[in-house]
Amino acid sequence: MNSVNLDKYSDPFFLGETKEELRRIRQDFHVHPEIGLVTPRTSRIIADLLKDYGVDEVHEGVGGDGVVGVIYGKLPGEASVGLRADIDALPLKELSNHDHVSQVEGAMHACGHDGHAAALLGAAKKLASERNFGGKVVLVFQPGEEGWSGAKHMMEDGLFERFPMQEIYAFHNSSAIEPGRIALNYGAMQAAADAFTIVVKGKGGHASRPNLNHDPVIAAAHIILALQTIVSREVDPLETAVVSCCSLQAGDPRAQSVCPDSCQIVGTARTFSPEVRDLVEKRIGEISASIAVGLGCTAETDYGRFYPPCINTPEQAAFMADVAAGFVGEENVDRNYPRMAGGEDFAFMLEKVPGAYIRIGQGGASAHNPYFDFNDEILPLAASVLAATAEKRLQKLNGGGNSAE
Ligand SMILES: [Zn+2]
Ligand SMILES: [Zn+2]
Repeated sequence: MNSVNLDKYSDPFFLGETKEELRRIRQDFHVHPEIGLVTPRTSRIIADLLKDYGVDEVHEGVGGDGVVGVIYGKLPGEASVGLRADIDALPLKELSNHDHVSQVEGAMHACGHDGHAAALLGAAKKLASERNFGGKVVLVFQPGEEGWSGAKHMMEDGLFERFPMQEIYAFHNSSAIEPGRIALNYGAMQAAADAFTIVVKGKGGHASRPNLNHDPVIAAAHIILALQTIVSREVDPLETAVVSCCSLQAGDPRAQSVCPDSCQIVGTARTFSPEVRDLVEKRIGEISASIAVGLGCTAETDYGRFYPPCINTPEQAAFMADVAAGFVGEENVDRNYPRMAGGEDFAFMLEKVPGAYIRIGQGGASAHNPYFDFNDEILPLAASVLAATAEKRLQKLNGGGNSAE
C-alpha cells in the first residue's frame, strides 16, 4: 500500500481524530464485507453514524438496504444536491494478511466501496456540524453496485421523488492513478455493458442432403461476420463501440452428419452514448433477421440492457474538477481521462439528474483483485472533495456564487 501522506491536500476538518475515525470505520467495513443488495450490518452502522453526526433525516430501507440522509443548511436557499457512495463488497476470497482482513469467507471489499462509504460519512459529519450552505444535501448510500443494479432499486423505490435533488456527485477510487491525483472527463466515464442472444432457426436433417435442409449454422456464420460491420460501417468513426460474439452453440459435437435445427450466438455490446447504444441494439436485430431470411432461416435477437453508459454532464463535471483542483492543484487534475469499457451503476442516477463521477487516485493493487485494499490515506481528500462540492454547488445553485473557488 502506498503510504504517501496526502494531508496537505485535505480540508483540516478531516485530519487528526476525524481521520482516525474514518480509518476505523473503513477498516471495520472491510473486516465485515456484505455482498450485493443485502448489506444490513453496513447499512445499520451507516444509519447510526448519520444520527450521531446530527443528520436531520435518516431513512433506512430505501430500495432494499439503501440508506438516505438529509442535512439542512443554515443559510438561505432552496437548492438540493446529492452525494452518493456505493457500499457493497464482492464475492471474492481475500488473500492479504493485514490487520483488517475480511472475516467473511468468500467475501471482500475488493473494489473499495468500504472507503467510498467512509468518505461520504466523513463528508456528512462536516456538513451536519457546520451547515455552511443553503438548501439541503441528500446523502445516498447504495448497496448492490457490483452487478445488482442497486442504484436502480433505490430509484424504483422513489429515491428522486422522495428526496428531490437537482444534481448528484460521486467518486470511485483508482489504483491506476497515483495518490493525490484526480481524474475525470466531461462526458462518458464508463460504457453501457449490454448482452445479446441471437437464436437462428432453420430446418435440420441429414447433412448429406443439404438441399432438403435450411442450415442455421451457415446463417449464423454469415450473421457473425455481418455484425462486424456495425462498428466498422455504421457507428460514426469519431464514436466507438464494441460488438463481440463470444459463444456459438449448435448441434452435438458427436453428430458429424446432423444438420441442426437451430444455432445460438451470445455476445456483448459496449457503447458510450445513448444514440450509439440504440443504433447497435437496432442493427444487431435487423442484420440478424434479414440475413437469416435470405438463407431460408429466421433469427430472433434478445438484447439485454444492463448498466447504461455513465455520462458526466459537462457543467457539473467542470465544477467538481475545479473543486478538486482547489485541494490538489490544477496540475494534479486530469480533465481528459479516457473513458473505460467497464460498467458503473451510478449511470442510472446520471441518466435522471445532472452530475459527475470522478476518480480519486490511490495506487496499490488493482480493483477486483484478492490483494486489493482501499488506501485510507485518501479518505480525508475524498471527504474534502465531496463536502466542498456540495457546499460550493449549493452556493451557486442558490444564486450566491459563480465559481468553485
Ligand atoms: Zn467493482
Ligand atoms: Zn467499484
